[in-house]
Amino acid sequence: MASMTATLLDADQTRRFGAALARAVRPGDVLALSGDLGAGKTTLTQGLAAGLGISGDVLSPTFALMSEYRGGRVPLLHVDAYRLNGASDAEQLGLDEYLDDGWALVLEWPGNIAGALLENVSVRLDHDGDRRTVSITGADRWISAVEEAFARSGD
Ligand code: ADP
Ligand code: MG
Repeated sequence: MASMTATLLDADQTRRFGAALARAVRPGDVLALSGDLGAGKTTLTQGLAAGLGISGDVLSPTFALMSEYRGGRVPLLHVDAYRLNGASDAEQLGLDEYLDDGWALVLEWPGNIAGALLENVSVRLDHDGDRRTVSITGADRWISAVEEAFARSGD
């Protein structure tokens, strides 16, 4: 396990960070994205999807709960757990089945279904005006994917 922190000055940098992170994604991965409303979780997911080679818009799945994106290197399931409560909700969505089928899962508000899934990397966004501080914790492959483009600090 390693960690790194980077500063993202605008939404475009956050998308580029997501695209860099995509290089580390493998089938069955769970990426937990935490941070307040408006922190940039969906923006980062847009970059991640683009990095996987998925074309088309990635919109917030807050009301749909989850959206499927095919056509990339790995199929992507984008879940917003904002309105979920507890592990049984995760079971109802069949998230384990998606992972078994080789989908990668991006999960916003992972704390709402805490314990339901084992995350492979955790990404935290904090905001201050337009500037975001992103911190990721996970295996070395995640850190390597982003450290070329985004300065590494701490481990
Ligand atoms: P969340 O999914 O965490 O609620 P969104 O990604 O939907 O957040 O929204 C973030 C909003 O903040 C967007 O309107 C985006 O354009 C804006 N924004 C401004 N600066 C940044 C930044 N550095 N990174 C990400 N989003 C930013
Ligand atoms: Mg969102």
